[in-house]
Amino acid sequence: MIYKLVVFIALFLPLAQITAARKEKSPAIASYVTAPSGAPTIILDAGHGGTDMGARSKAPYCEEKRMCLQTARLVRKYLNQLGYHVVMTRNSDAFVSLPNRVEIANQASGDLFVSVHFNSSRSPMAQGIEIFFCDGKEDRVRSQSSRKLASAILGRVIRRTMANSRGVKKGNFYVIRETAMPAVLVEGGFISNPEERSALRTREYQEKLARGIADGVDHFLKKG
Ligand SMILES: [Zn+2]
Repeated sequence: MIYKLVVFIALFLPLAQITAARKEKSPAIASYVTAPSGAPTIILDAGHGGTDMGARSKAPYCEEKRMCLQTARLVRKYLNQLGYHVVMTRNSDAFVSLPNRVEIANQASGDLFVSVHFNSSRSPMAQGIEIFFCDGKEDRVRSQSSRKLASAILGRVIRRTMANSRGVKKGNFYVIRETAMPAVLVEGGFISNPEERSALRTREYQEKLARGIADGVDHFLKKG
C-alpha cells in the first residue's frame, strides 16, 4: 500500500507541477514577452510627477505622485501579460505637462488612455474609487466608449479591492478631454482617509487595483 502510494506520488507530482507551470506564466518572464504586432496600444498616464506631487498626507508621509507611478507600472505589467502594447506618459519622477501627456498619447496612436490618480478630501471619512470620463459633445462615439471603459474598469477594481464604489462620473479634466482616443481617469482611493491610505500604500492593494484596471481594459477591448 505504501509502495503504491510512493509510486503514485512520484508519477503524479511532476505532472501536476508541469500543468501548474503551464497555467501560471511566471510574471517575470511574461513581462518581457513582446506584444504581437497589431496588438492594441494602451497609454498609461501616471498622474503628477517631479515638482507636482499631487495629494499628500503627513503621518505616515505619502505622496500621490509616487503611488500613481507604482500603480501604473503594475498595470503595465498586467497589460503586457495580456499581450498589449503599453506606452507610459512618464516612467520616472519627472514633471510632464498636461499638453505633453496628450501629445505622447496622440503621437503613439494609442487605442485607449488610462490616467491613474489618487484622491484627497477635507473630510477624512471620504473613501472609495471613482472613475471619470469626458462627456464631450463633438465626438459622441469617443464619449460613449470612454463611459463603457470606465464602467468595465470600475466593476473589476471594486471586485478585487472590495473598496467603496463612488461610481462612474463625468469630468472635464484636460488629459481625458483632449486625447483623441477613449480615455478615463481612475481615482484609486483617498490618501486623506487614514484607513484607505494604509491599504493604498501596500503593494498587495496596488496589485489588486492594477489587476482590476488591466482586466477592465481587456474586457472592454474584447467585448466592447
Ligand atoms: Zn491627482
